[in-house]
Amino acid sequence: MSTSRNYQTKGIILKQTKLGEFDKIVTIYTPEFGKLKAVAKGACRPKSKLGGNVEPLTYSLMLLAKGRNLDIVTQSQTINGFPGLKSDLWRMACSFYILELVDSFTVEGGDNHPLFDLLLDALHQLSDPNSNETLLRHFELHLLHHLGYRPQLRRCVSCNSSVKPIINFFSPSKGGLLCPCCNSAENQDYEQIERMSLRLSVPFSVGALKVLRLWQNCDYATARRVKISPELSSELERVLHDYIRCILQRELKSLTWLQELEMEFPPHRPGT
Ligand SMILES: [Zn+2]
Repeated sequence: MSTSRNYQTKGIILKQTKLGEFDKIVTIYTPEFGKLKAVAKGACRPKSKLGGNVEPLTYSLMLLAKGRNLDIVTQSQTINGFPGLKSDLWRMACSFYILELVDSFTVEGGDNHPLFDLLLDALHQLSDPNSNETLLRHFELHLLHHLGYRPQLRRCVSCNSSVKPIINFFSPSKGGLLCPCCNSAENQDYEQIERMSLRLSVPFSVGALKVLRLWQNCDYATARRVKISPELSSELERVLHDYIRCILQRELKSLTWLQELEMEFPPHRPGT
């Protein structure tokens, strides 16, 4: 095989699926090529050199060879295996949620360097024992921004008037805030759908407005300094999850696991 058919890339392993008895297909998020799938031959053999370097939640430097269908990982060296994330159940669940979000929101090909940087930074930050749930909200907000789904929190998505510091309503299907006036009008139009108990919009507090607007425009180090109550933290979580579920049209498996875990153990709320 000529060298031009080989290429090197750094990447974060998002997930793996078994292929036959000894091989696996790994989904990798790379800075240059976006998401790609490749075959890691023999990775499931007990003494495979490749094995541990292509596990999910590993940041690796890889050498790949162009294949007819899928490319093949020929060598892989771990840059960061994130041991701090793998040894703490809550942090591990958060990491897998972050990985599944990236996998669910992206298609193969199409580089998105800012998204790669956001992903790598979030995994580093989450390794810090002082990081809390704010990291997930900050990650969700910025992932949405990098993929063209930035929630509109400045103007009403229906009448375009400037949003006032009062209770407004968040509409997942419209991707932003509805002023109280437009919210009433929308709900009249959709009275029948509402009777079928579909949530068209949810109340959105002034606190949520201030915090999300700030978090949209700052890094995580700044975001985590904002003191918020457990109630506000729950509101922000609900709003973002409603919006993400509406875009993806499904529930993420890792989120269900994370939520079950948080019911069992005290949640890592900001300030707790
Ligand atoms: Zn309006």
